[in-house]
Amino acid sequence: MFKIFKTILDHQNSCLIIPHQSPDGDCLGSSFALSHFFDQNKCTNHILMDDTIPTNYLFLEKENMIRSMDVLDNNFMYDYIIILDTSSKDRVGALPEVLTYGKQIIVIDHHKTNAYFGDHNIVDMISSVGEILYNMMIDLNYAFDAEIAIGLYTSIITDTGEFRYSNTTPEAIRAVANLFETGFDFEQVNRNIFSNQPLSKVKLKSEALSNLKLYHNNQVAIMSVTQEMLNRLKCEMFHSDGIVEAGRDIEGVEVSVLLKEMNPGNIKVSLRSKSFVDVSEVSLIFGGGGHVRAAGCTVNDHLNAVEEKIAKLLGERLS
Ligand code: 5GP
Ligand code: MN
Repeated sequence: MFKIFKTILDHQNSCLIIPHQSPDGDCLGSSFALSHFFDQNKCTNHILMDDTIPTNYLFLEKENMIRSMDVLDNNFMYDYIIILDTSSKDRVGALPEVLTYGKQIIVIDHHKTNAYFGDHNIVDMISSVGEILYNMMIDLNYAFDAEIAIGLYTSIITDTGEFRYSNTTPEAIRAVANLFETGFDFEQVNRNIFSNQPLSKVKLKSEALSNLKLYHNNQVAIMSVTQEMLNRLKCEMFHSDGIVEAGRDIEGVEVSVLLKEMNPGNIKVSLRSKSFVDVSEVSLIFGGGGHVRAAGCTVNDHLNAVEEKIAKLLGERLS
């Protein structure tokens, strides 16, 4: 499964690492860890991060991070472009032209909706891309250091919802236990990720929650974040992370939905379920994707119309 990595290390190939749009803990943590891994094995590498990094993940910034595609050298072809945590081409965190900067594409992902769009596809439906990279490094007999542990721990701990979700396995917990052996400061990492929220973000969450609507015997919770709310509370859309999970965590709620108004008539939908609804089925209807308990899609319609459509589709899955 990881033969391609042996080839990269043997030839000291050059790699461009690309996370997905609206980056989260898994794609940022795994980009950081993979980049360190290449540094230590003397492989030229860059991370292309053409999007805002949420402030709680800024500790994962690296010197070799390229913050815009414009900075890429037109005369340089990477041996490999490595796309992390991304199930389809349209979710890559850069314009499609970026793919012309590499000779071959490697996709490393754990979404069951993955479209296998790379020349090499390492797709394993485990907790996180961080856990896939952990397995790769074990396979290559790599001795973990604290820096890599910080990246892989961030991936696994965020994508498993701190070991609360169904993707938490003995293997994922064992991986984290082994990473702890490096002695990295996990308390500091947890403070960075979980106890470092801007006040404006907390106010946005509080307003979204106070306008929450319940459907189908209170089993579906739907909330919205509009452009008007963002302007008034001086927030960016990435500050809406964590809101949809708060809806799911209400007693009796099976599915929580967050409607993010990117533009009027362009709504990004985040879906979370608690125990039995497969929300990836609903997101696939609109051309999106994701996991059984966490999925998303974009719908081009007005907020109220999207709310109605999603509520109806979920109702059919609950009855
Ligand atoms: P979130 O709600 O946090 O944006 O995304 C939840 C999950 O659904 C993530 O695993 C993400 O990759 C996936 N997802 C969200 N939006 C989309 C989308 O528009 N297309 C696809 N294919 N997957 C999505
Ligand atoms: Mn992930």
